[in-house]
Amino acid sequence: MLTKEDLTRLHNLKDEGKLYTSVYLNVNPATNPKGEYFVTFRNLIKQESEKLSSSDQKLIYEDIKRIETYLKTGKTEFKKSIAIFSSSQNDLWEVYHLAVPLKNQVVTDRTPYLKPLSEILEQYHSYAVAIVDREHARIFRIQLGEISEYDELFTPDIPRKHKKGGWQGRDENRFRRHIDVHVHFHLLDVVKHLEAVLHVGEVNHIILGGTEESVPLFNKMLPQTIIAKIAGTFTTDMHTSNDEILAKSISIIMDAGKCSEEGLVDELVTRSSKDGSAAVGLEDVLTQMQAGNVHHLIYNEGFSASGFKCSSCNLLTIQNHKECPYCGSEFEKIDHLIDYTIQRAIDKGANISPVMDNVKLKEAGNIGALLRY
Ligand SMILES: [Zn+2]
Repeated sequence: MLTKEDLTRLHNLKDEGKLYTSVYLNVNPATNPKGEYFVTFRNLIKQESEKLSSSDQKLIYEDIKRIETYLKTGKTEFKKSIAIFSSSQNDLWEVYHLAVPLKNQVVTDRTPYLKPLSEILEQYHSYAVAIVDREHARIFRIQLGEISEYDELFTPDIPRKHKKGGWQGRDENRFRRHIDVHVHFHLLDVVKHLEAVLHVGEVNHIILGGTEESVPLFNKMLPQTIIAKIAGTFTTDMHTSNDEILAKSISIIMDAGKCSEEGLVDELVTRSSKDGSAAVGLEDVLTQMQAGNVHHLIYNEGFSASGFKCSSCNLLTIQNHKECPYCGSEFEKIDHLIDYTIQRAIDKGANISPVMDNVKLKEAGNIGALLRY
């Protein structure tokens, strides 16, 4: 998982005259069924190396070979996009697999090219998820749609009631107090860990999970600094899988974003009916895309459609033409037209906003675009 620390570390590599090759590639299997990214890389690195002196071209030869080998063999790990930083001169090789789409780019320079990475870290908020019960806690981070476990706490010395059998009267009260004190210290410890996560400055929001008993108990102990960051809570136990925690958290994250999503869809629908400065429905969106007129693409998450792609000029369409109306080449049928549409929008510098089950957008054809002009 890509973190701000990674970015800072790469950023701190100073210009010492050594060459770095930075590669951003869309490797989404849906839009690259035949490993098309390999050709994309070859074309981009060719253009890039033509700008270099012949001695510099020799210096990146090793890097190109290594990247090509990786693109051919690393496939099983590919998600939607990949970022590679390679400098054989400075013994650097770093690969990041990302679950979000990126624009294809290759840059060779005296420092790593990091702008696309810092932009997506800015765009996708980062979350900490804390799962608590009376003696355990697990802290996760969610970033760019991926979850990873960050920290685990266990405060085991809570005495078990059944061990000694028969706590009664005064002893029973003492026992309760003893447990409450332990739980209290355990939860305070969790608060400290959460504050440390916040302190690093990489987390924008916190989500709380746990048993029905522990979440309200924990909630009461939180300082204002943490309360202000809470995006939502959910009920779960300590042994829930990471995938399930991610799914529950994503639905909270989506709910938190609902208001802004609704505003965006309202703007889209109003503008399309009022002055035509927005397009709705796949066919109109593709027409505007072909004209380079898409400024902001908005679509219902999970919307899918099949269609056609020109084998030569890459025109995307839902109509089964005999030949491409622009260049006369043949069309090929594609199953993941929406993935191609999103990638094309990114390549052309448009913003993209997936929204969650928006009814108004569904009625408008599940996809729309705010236009440039
Ligand atoms: Zn064509």
